[in-house]
Amino acid sequence: MKFATKAIHAGLRPDPATGAVMTPVYQVSTYVQDAVGEHKGYAYSRTGNPTRAALEANLAALENGTRGACFASGLAAIDCLLKMLNPGDEVVSTNDLYGGSYRLFNTVFAKYGIKFHYTRMDDPSEVKALMNSKTKLIWVETPTNPTMKIIDIAAMAEVAREGKVILAVDNTFATPALQRPLELGADVVMHSVTKYLGGHSDVVMGALVTADENIAAEMYRIQNSSGAVCGPQDAFLALRGVKTLHLRMQRHGENGMHIARFLLSHKAVDRVYYPGLESHPGHETAKRQMESFTGMVSFSLKNDTAAAAHEVLKRFKIFSLAESLGGVESLAGHPAAMTHASVPADLRRASGVADSLIRLSVGIEDIEDLIADLDAALGAV
Ligand SMILES: *Cc1c(COP(=O)(O)O)cnc(C)c1O
Repeated sequence: MKFATKAIHAGLRPDPATGAVMTPVYQVSTYVQDAVGEHKGYAYSRTGNPTRAALEANLAALENGTRGACFASGLAAIDCLLKMLNPGDEVVSTNDLYGGSYRLFNTVFAKYGIKFHYTRMDDPSEVKALMNSKTKLIWVETPTNPTMKIIDIAAMAEVAREGKVILAVDNTFATPALQRPLELGADVVMHSVTKYLGGHSDVVMGALVTADENIAAEMYRIQNSSGAVCGPQDAFLALRGVKTLHLRMQRHGENGMHIARFLLSHKAVDRVYYPGLESHPGHETAKRQMESFTGMVSFSLKNDTAAAAHEVLKRFKIFSLAESLGGVESLAGHPAAMTHASVPADLRRASGVADSLIRLSVGIEDIEDLIADLDAALGAV
């Protein structure tokens, strides 16, 4: 099956009891047993729930994996993955990291004796230089948030294979519609389903997908033991969102490209960060590993101050000032004060997050309206 067909059908079958075409919301905690230990595959909804199971199978198929697991949030999914490590183990991660992942690594897992190294990952030798016999995991996020850096997944897979460590990729920004890390050699893919996969700003959820049976066994053991599962209502909403993922990503990409070009030509704008632009340093790698370039566009102002950024953000009429991304509606944010507030200022600036940087999550509205809104807001500076 090809991608769009999988998005709509994979993991789903008409409800065996009624023939309902949509997987019902199995709003239930427990399941009757015919005899002790004899049941239809479900015993308790932390361990397994039919609505969640349909979504897990669907996401596994979309990433070309075999096993999926869904969690109460993206961070709960990362938490599950990190619990596969032991005290003393080391992780090499990109330094241009989602702020919440950085906080989870450094304020929660560092306490349990796991050591994190951060590097740019432009060059595989930088990663190799940080690896030793204790390294167990390489953590990649691409495109990165919010400066849209591109990391070569196949090159990192090579490093991971040589070092016999797990390669995990946070695929939240690209989604499997545009980029499938498992096909490029990664061992695990992580998602904040909250973003493009859900796509409608109505759910907080996370997922892991793998094709490795050992990782899958650990993933389900920890999912069931730690218990950070998503509820059936949320699984239903995510399933509904995923059915239009391919169409939404196509429009997000078209609108993103238009807006990146518009910003590039605007006199108030200093730099534009969008992997679809030929001038973007990761453009060639992005073209190789992604089908198109998403709706995430960041830019800094010639007047590089937080005050100038706040002035622009205040004037938007269609772009809403909000955290998060990936929904059908356009959002705008100020990473230095919002998503990256928990990253120390020196580390933040070093990774390219300027004080005036504005991050757009370009929605699927009419492009003429979005450009007019941007043009009017930029008039402020
Ligand atoms: C939002 C996000 C997360 C965390 O996901 P939650 O669902 O908010 O817990 C992780 N990585 C990236 C790239 C994100 O955008």
